[in-house]
Amino acid sequence: MRELPRYPLAHLPTPITDATRLREALGGPARCPRILIKRDDLTALGLGGNKARKLEFLIADALAMGAHTILTTGAVQSNHARMTAAAARVAGLRCVLVLTSRYDVPPLEGNLLLDDLFGAEVRFVPSEDPMLAVGRDEEVVADVVRDERAAGRVPYVIPVGGSSPVGAIGYVTGTEELVGQLTAMGVAPTRLYFGSGSRGTQAGLTLGAKLYRAPYMLWGVAVSAGEPEKIVRAMNAANDAAVLLGVPTRVTRDDLFTDQGFIGEGYGIPTPGGLEAIDLLARTEAILLDPVYTSKGFAALLAHVRAGEIPPTDTVVFLHTGGMPALFTREFVATRR
Ligand SMILES: *Cc1c(COP(=O)(O)O)cnc(C)c1O
Repeated sequence: MRELPRYPLAHLPTPITDATRLREALGGPARCPRILIKRDDLTALGLGGNKARKLEFLIADALAMGAHTILTTGAVQSNHARMTAAAARVAGLRCVLVLTSRYDVPPLEGNLLLDDLFGAEVRFVPSEDPMLAVGRDEEVVADVVRDERAAGRVPYVIPVGGSSPVGAIGYVTGTEELVGQLTAMGVAPTRLYFGSGSRGTQAGLTLGAKLYRAPYMLWGVAVSAGEPEKIVRAMNAANDAAVLLGVPTRVTRDDLFTDQGFIGEGYGIPTPGGLEAIDLLARTEAILLDPVYTSKGFAALLAHVRAGEIPPTDTVVFLHTGGMPALFTREFVATRR
């Protein structure tokens, strides 16, 4: 396998928490499988999360191309945008974020507050539905690219979620790390649950699982609509990543299942099951899930445990992908009143 340039940004390896108090709360070893939580919320870069792994390869690629400015897009509370802003600072680069919001002047809170602290230049694209602004944010990105070039700077554009082939490699190496930890612990989990959005994490995890012969089935839990286009996106990212790595392994559509049962009303709209998961994990393990991604992923795991779908003698892993800044937004706080 080819070694690709990597810019160190994340604190690795991230730890694994054995969620024993949660297991007790779910009926103990007689009824509930062992639940391990892979703590990619603790990657440390700018409050952590899964994007740190992708950004190690994306920032290295940007520097190799002589970039001065990193540009990316997302919803106003994008974790990816916040971590990209942090990564740019660590690498000594400028950062411009093009963010969609339904407010003309979105409240400066959660991830947006952190974007501001990291000194990112933010351009807003108004949108009723943050997922439908794709065409317009591309126009703004094109404008920024033109302005940067006119100012004599080289821009590097990272797609939504960092889910390019280069970004996906972060979860090929992430899988190598996880499989090594599980082997050292002497466990062979049957499932790995994770919240899935732009699918770069899934692309890397899927390619990585094949390359490192992971024991688990991947259980991606969709947090937003978009099938089947997103399957194609994940497949292309995974297979282009395989080409970059110089490995013959390929991923097919059949490898890219995601559970569509926990989206609720849509991206960023909390679900009752997700809110319950946030409370339960906070009160048993003092681990904080986020309202957009990890709570919906964890709600799937809880539903499957309670339905008796997973034998209690099994071990399962939940990949905690971060996202805690969204807890500190008025939208989340309103669910507590
Ligand atoms: C971006 C993100 C995900 C989803 O990762 P994708 O690669 O976009 O599918 C999951 N959880 C959190 C907290 C995220 O920020």
